[in-house]
Amino acid sequence: MAVEEANLLLAERIIQEKLKPFVRKIDAEAHYPSEYLSAVGSSGLLRSEGLPQTDVLLGDVKLIEVTARTCMTAGFNLWCHLAASTYVRNTANPYLRNTLLPQFEDGTLMGGTGLSNPMKYYAGLEELHLKARRVETGYVVSGQLPMVSNLGPDHWFGFVASLEDRDQRVMAVVPCSAEGLTMKEKIGYLGLNGSATYSCVFDGVFIPDDWVVAEHADSFVAKIRPVFVLYQIPLGLGITESCIRSMEKAGLKQGGCSRYLSIQPEELAAELEALRERTYALCNVSDPAEHWRELLEIRLSVAQTTLKAVQGDMLHHGGAAYLQTSHSSRRLREAYFLANLTPTVRHLEKLLRRRK
Ligand SMILES: Cc1cc2nc3c(=O)[nH]c(=O)nc-3n(C[C@H](O)[C@H](O)[C@H](O)COP(=O)(O)OP(=O)(O)OC[C@H]3O[C@@H](n4cnc5c(N)ncnc54)[C@H](O)[C@@H]3O)c2cc1C
Repeated sequence: MAVEEANLLLAERIIQEKLKPFVRKIDAEAHYPSEYLSAVGSSGLLRSEGLPQTDVLLGDVKLIEVTARTCMTAGFNLWCHLAASTYVRNTANPYLRNTLLPQFEDGTLMGGTGLSNPMKYYAGLEELHLKARRVETGYVVSGQLPMVSNLGPDHWFGFVASLEDRDQRVMAVVPCSAEGLTMKEKIGYLGLNGSATYSCVFDGVFIPDDWVVAEHADSFVAKIRPVFVLYQIPLGLGITESCIRSMEKAGLKQGGCSRYLSIQPEELAAELEALRERTYALCNVSDPAEHWRELLEIRLSVAQTTLKAVQGDMLHHGGAAYLQTSHSSRRLREAYFLANLTPTVRHLEKLLRRRK
């Protein structure tokens, strides 16, 4: 059996055991799927050592996709972790590569990413929220990030701060236990409450040089940004697939009159397959940064297709879907997060400059 196929079977088994039984709890009780995430890590599915980049990208994309098929919140947690892993996989800092990366990849430590603000900064949408001052053996960082997900006691997250005295930005990772870092859990969202999302206040947090991912964040972010966006796409692929399956199941309701609805599973399946093929193809290119526009186009299309799919799912299931605890309504609420996750739909529209 090919490695890829074996890995998918393993992922499906972990999903059955460690994720499926908790989906409602994740959605309704803000349960953080830590057991699932650790099991994925300890099973070896996150390992990158010795693998060509194309295999790592495709493996990670498919893992996020199968996870999001069952629960997009858990898929998003995995995205956070794999985004953080991407920073550490690409850094030149030997401490992070040799010490943090193996623990990220065996699931003993988890990662998050505070990069929405920098992504908006680099797109000219807002100022950087964190400021850094150089000291002898590192930086002292202050400021606030309003939302960073997939955090907890054994977690680290990536951030970008601007230097106070020069036109330069630095990127680093920080453990949630760092002195001077105050975190406050944020719940009460429409969905995604199991994502372990916190506001993070940096009050003179000392970041030693060992935690610095890149002294020059501008060029580093340009390098990792394509993977950051690529890994978001399977969130939509997974949720759309589950909507299609759900619509097919509802097909015979009320004498099959759902066939008259304007959104049909066959049409969505064709859209999904085309998006999936384009996404997998991008995992196989030597430098995804050379395909930035194509990535943005797929990311925008997947958000739009996903919104259509969740709407179709709601309509095909009728009153049963309107229950707060139904899978259709959970997917609807989760899908709106994909549209509002940076790069948001409006951010993407700006980057693609489709409209004046
Ligand atoms: C559940 C959830 C999880 C998220 N997880 C992450 C994550 O892991 N990492 C990450 O970097 N981003 C995270 N975000 C942010 C997300 O990626 C988008 O940036 C966000 O949805 C806002 O998009 P927007 O462009 O509409 O900005 P707006 O909502 O218009 O906000 C513009 C800016 O206002 C400020 N702001 C907004 N809300 C608050 C607030 N409550 N307190 C203080 N300032 C605020 C921020 O600077 C924000 O960027 C999360 C958001 C949500 C809802």
